[in-house]
Amino acid sequence: MSEKKNIITIDGPSGVGKSTVSRKVAAAVGFTYLDTGAMYRAVGLHLSRLQIDLEDKGNLGRVLEALTLDLIPAAEEESDVQVIMNGEDVSEAIRTPEMAMVASRVSADAAVRQFLTQVQKNYGAAGRIVAEGRDTGTVVFPDAAYKFFLDAQPEERARRRVLQLQRKGCRVDFVEILAMTLERDHQDRNRAVAPLRPAEDAVLIDTTEIDIEEVVNRILAVVRGK
Ligand code: C5P
Repeated sequence: MSEKKNIITIDGPSGVGKSTVSRKVAAAVGFTYLDTGAMYRAVGLHLSRLQIDLEDKGNLGRVLEALTLDLIPAAEEESDVQVIMNGEDVSEAIRTPEMAMVASRVSADAAVRQFLTQVQKNYGAAGRIVAEGRDTGTVVFPDAAYKFFLDAQPEERARRRVLQLQRKGCRVDFVEILAMTLERDHQDRNRAVAPLRPAEDAVLIDTTEIDIEEVVNRILAVVRGK
């Protein structure tokens, strides 16, 4: 690996396959997987449980001061990370389409982003991580050694999200998930702070017509310098 920090960032819009790809890449290179979206979901859950007005932007940061978040990598490569918030396991509760929308709303808040960016930088301080999210290559780890940005057509991303939720036993509707995907994209790309966009030095991969293994192989080929 190069002199730069031994961190790999994988960003992109929702449903593009980032989590699965990141877990596989992390396992292949022996790094820890850092799911930054899980942190935004946890903060969204926390704020909505407190019934805090999510539009009251100035107030959100203060509420986070007492929040503790721990991410525990799953034992199996296929599983999501375990998320412990203030001592409570919220891993299941954050993985709903509704909580994804809440996460997208709270993630536009500058204080929320500042808080979580610092938590993420702390996780990455020792290096050897694969960070996944929307701004890991642009804001959280601008010195990462390798940056990737995955994209795919919205219909394909919604189709993948439906399959993923169905595997977890959720009953979901394609049209509804597509609408949520488009709304989340719009919010994430157009927010003032850390909008979703590729880092200038990111490798772009359109995954619409290629499967997970192929995406992972392309990333590993770059990382291993082939
Ligand atoms: O990746 P995931 O779907 O779990 O992310 C949920 C939401 O959290 C995203 O729609 C986005 O608004 C927000 N997020 C973010 N920055 C990140 C990761 C996630 O704004 N680095």
